[in-house]
Amino acid sequence: MALTNDPATTGLAATFALIRPPGHHATTGLCGGYCYLNNVMICASHALGQIDQTGRLKCVIIDIDFHHGNGVEEILQRKTPSGKLNWRKRCQYISLHAHPEYPYYTSHLDCGLRKDVEFWDYNKTLSVKFELATTWCNLERWPEEETLVLVSMGLDTLSSDPIGGFNSFTEMEHYELLGENIGDFVAQVNGRTAFLLEGGYVVEKLGECVEAVFRGFMRRLGPLLSDTENIRRTPKD
Ligand SMILES: [Zn+2]
Repeated sequence: MALTNDPATTGLAATFALIRPPGHHATTGLCGGYCYLNNVMICASHALGQIDQTGRLKCVIIDIDFHHGNGVEEILQRKTPSGKLNWRKRCQYISLHAHPEYPYYTSHLDCGLRKDVEFWDYNKTLSVKFELATTWCNLERWPEEETLVLVSMGLDTLSSDPIGGFNSFTEMEHYELLGENIGDFVAQVNGRTAFLLEGGYVVEKLGECVEAVFRGFMRRLGPLLSDTENIRRTPKD
């Protein structure tokens, strides 16, 4: 929950949660795919339902795990008791995932990709989704609104992953480019960002992949962040 705090009070513009097990397959009443608690939806509901009483905060969830986040989609579609603020309407969910793969029968979103998709096609599809999400954020119409970008950072897209693996995800450069793409989107919507680890099972490569995503992300956002007071640098120990 601390991940979603306002950078004006925490001094943080982007945060990262090194979490295991992952969470995006956990639905309202079902655990699955190693997931017990839907971490990203706990963040979203906390930020939109409890912290933000003004209704001005929006949330875009970017899921780049190899698998479809069926739990996230189920929770977003869940009915709420009448009369209560439906915070889910202020969430957009972008999921690029392989299909047919686990969870097999729940690929509702229109972004099911073949396991042998070219990286460039994947990244282009992600850019198109970002364009649509930017329109949804609609900064021109509601410039006073804020956007929280939650990244379900699954790294089981790596080609050598034993559980997933797109054939073409072979280089750290690919993860840097993903980070750049995410950074460009965050800059477009003037958002704040929280990354949460999802899958990724080549343990000896996991740190390298995380670092590559952040290298790309900071390449695009670093100059913006250094112009503000919003980033707190961790003291060296
Ligand atoms: Zn996964």
